[in-house]
Amino acid sequence: MENNSIELHNKLDSINKKYFIETYGCQMNVYDSELVATQLENSGFEKTENIEIADAIFLNTCAIRDKAEETVHNRLSNLHNLKKKKPGMILGVLGCMAQNLKNELLESKPFVDVILGPDSYRRIPELIQSRTQENNNIVDTKLSKFEVYEDLYPSRNEGINAWISIMRGCDKFCTFCIVPFTRGRERSSSIESIVEEAKKCVAEGFIEITLLGQNVNSYRTPEGAFPELLKEIAVIPGVKRIRYTSPHPQDIDDDLLQVMKDFDNICNHIHLPLQAGADRILKRMNRTYTKVEFLNLVDKIRKYMPDCSLSTDVIVGFPGETDDEFLETLDVIEKVEFNSAFMFKYSSRPGTKASEYTDQIDENIKQTRLESLILLQKEKTLIANKKLVGTVQEVIVEKESKKSEHQWAGRTNGNTWVVFDKSNESIKDIIKVLITDARGITLFGQREN
Ligand code: SF4
Repeated sequence: MENNSIELHNKLDSINKKYFIETYGCQMNVYDSELVATQLENSGFEKTENIEIADAIFLNTCAIRDKAEETVHNRLSNLHNLKKKKPGMILGVLGCMAQNLKNELLESKPFVDVILGPDSYRRIPELIQSRTQENNNIVDTKLSKFEVYEDLYPSRNEGINAWISIMRGCDKFCTFCIVPFTRGRERSSSIESIVEEAKKCVAEGFIEITLLGQNVNSYRTPEGAFPELLKEIAVIPGVKRIRYTSPHPQDIDDDLLQVMKDFDNICNHIHLPLQAGADRILKRMNRTYTKVEFLNLVDKIRKYMPDCSLSTDVIVGFPGETDDEFLETLDVIEKVEFNSAFMFKYSSRPGTKASEYTDQIDENIKQTRLESLILLQKEKTLIANKKLVGTVQEVIVEKESKKSEHQWAGRTNGNTWVVFDKSNESIKDIIKVLITDARGITLFGQREN
């Protein structure tokens, strides 16, 4: 009874107040922002796209590279000016940077009112309320062993694809990565709650589900692991496509590949982060596989699903990486012919093991390596796409093409964008498209009747 009246009081206080959330970084942050939006809306706040009129502004931040942090620092300095004009406005920093740099933020940006780590979002309504009353800084960055926000349903924007977070945290401790420190240990939502969420998404009109997790295929519960979960989602009526990201190569096993092969609505696409090609560097990164093991895994995936598309992540210039070791990375790119890749220069993250290595690589060398890697990968993407010319692909009509109002853009099962002329289809239709050309990273085609 008492709780109810506090809730009502909080809600009345927030009525007509507007919130604005800006999201940086990975898809997990996009999902978390949707969770925060639900929390704020349940407390009476309304969403606004106009930051100038917002009563509460949250930046959901990323700590994976120093550039991402710099962007947020600059953004906060700009918002300080807005706050000077509107002293009652609440400015909050959420996510990985809040977790990792709370002391620095408190010191250098004392005008920030709320600092919340990724496991503290459940407390947002209560914290905003006490901030309104007491005008003090509020910080909560305690990591939880259990929090998976199982009972909170995110406030999603309409669309084709709904993201569902199935596990949080990471236990792998790659030496370059800050995630195990900002997001804590691995924990999984129950199969039952994920199936319920997927059914709700279908009822709201989503036709594609992407399962999300820092280490998505480490998902495990007493009722089953990742392959069992995939099976349960695949049989939900109305789920036309299932994707998942990001897996760790170490946890891709026969059971998972068999389930992917068995169900047509599980997309034949695996994001397989390589990171580096040389064994010594992989060991220093604590990636738990060798170059040969990685290549064998690729062969195995292609045995199960010969047309499976593969994407990857690569870091160049990891501490101590020699020219020859970089060539080992290029060799893997050459051999695997990934469909696409996210490629980065190593960025030292204070607090990680790799940041303590004394043999950091010169920025210019990193840049040269990155450029040659991008050049090679571009060739490989084009080769992979050209192989599809002449084939008929199933495509979901997703949106109007950016280049022409007379054309649609949609993705293949393998996650490649296809542009084709409009006829009588509508968004969300699944149609067959004959691929007629491949340019850059895009396919072009025409509808097959
Ligand atoms: S698997 Fe490695 S790179 Fe991925 S989140 Fe965990 S520590 Fe970071």
